[in-house]
Amino acid sequence: MMPFTYNGLPSRVIFGQGTLAQVAEEVRSLGCSRVLVLSTPEQEGQARQILVQLGELGADVFAGARMHTPVETTEEAMRALASLGADGVVAIGGGSTIGLGKAIALRTDLPQVAIPTTYAGSEMTPILGETKDGLKTTQRTLKVLPETVIYDVDLTLGLPVGMSGTSGINAIAHAVEALYAKDRNPIVSLMAEEGIAALARSLPTIAGTPSDATARSDALYGAWLCGACLGSVGMSLHHKLCHTLGGSFDLPHAETHTIVLPHAVAYNATAAPDAMARIARALDAADAAGGLYDLARSVGATLALRDIGLKEDDIERATEIATANPYWNPRDIEANGIRRLLNDAYAGRRPATMEATEA
Ligand code: NAD
Repeated sequence: MMPFTYNGLPSRVIFGQGTLAQVAEEVRSLGCSRVLVLSTPEQEGQARQILVQLGELGADVFAGARMHTPVETTEEAMRALASLGADGVVAIGGGSTIGLGKAIALRTDLPQVAIPTTYAGSEMTPILGETKDGLKTTQRTLKVLPETVIYDVDLTLGLPVGMSGTSGINAIAHAVEALYAKDRNPIVSLMAEEGIAALARSLPTIAGTPSDATARSDALYGAWLCGACLGSVGMSLHHKLCHTLGGSFDLPHAETHTIVLPHAVAYNATAAPDAMARIARALDAADAAGGLYDLARSVGATLALRDIGLKEDDIERATEIATANPYWNPRDIEANGIRRLLNDAYAGRRPATMEATEA
């Protein structure tokens, strides 16, 4: 076995159906006596229910969380926190709300309970992306890792079908890139393969029967493992492309991940054969890139970048940005191959692994 370094991430995880009932107990065990409950405006109702459940442990609700964690929103939440004398936060929602909790923890070191309701996986990472004056910057610090995560399958039963599919494949993308990461290790690779398999077997069922509790449970478990992969090892070409497309062309986060992933995997296929074999095995597919494309199709996801707002003229600029400061990647980043990858993703073609890796 090759030598490796493994960094364990300290967090307590409560997983199951109905686990939200334990929120007060978990808040108390973190030593908090008055917590601020965070949500988006859309999930304020759920946040208010938690406030009721918390009784005297609850200070109030701040329902202003927004995509990409704008610093102005964080400052507004900090003012609420200070005026209430809150000594901890409970974040219920997806990556946007959990991001707000992390931004508060960065500034205050207050404990966080994260209650995820999507499959984005932010609750498992020591990573925070924040936006100021339209610029998103990302940092990695254990200060932002939530102390406690409550996964309650019941909270995901109502996650809309479209979002379930793309959010789930967004999670798979973390595990896929963990399998060929420069700093990969056997422990994280185990989580990655298990996470992909759990999501791949559950997402098609959820697309047909969104209230299937067994499939929802598998998907949330898979999302947890994939989030842990993102938090543990470095990401490569796929994440760089998605950051470029999201940041410079304002394309939607999870949908972009879903479309780009098969093509990024096709690009890397010959440079990472062991990872490809493990991804294909987890997907129960003949090849990794084709299997990911078929999974996206089976959950009814949009398959072409042109259908989520990218213009054909943008491909050249996206190629330039994505190749300018590339992340480490198992295969060298070269403009012709990236241009071809983006053209395939733009048109929504099923990736042909051999063709894409001959460039
Ligand atoms: P989101 O948090 O932006 O949620 C999208 C919308 O769906 C919101 O209106 C939300 O209230 C709603 N929603 C969430 N759960 C729901 C449910 N169960 N039922 C109905 N509606 C629900 O979306 P997301 O994809 O979870 O998060 C995306 C953001 O998270 C991005 O900004 C991304 O950069 C960030 N992210 C960060 C990390 C990290 O490690 N820092 C990891 C993954 C994602």
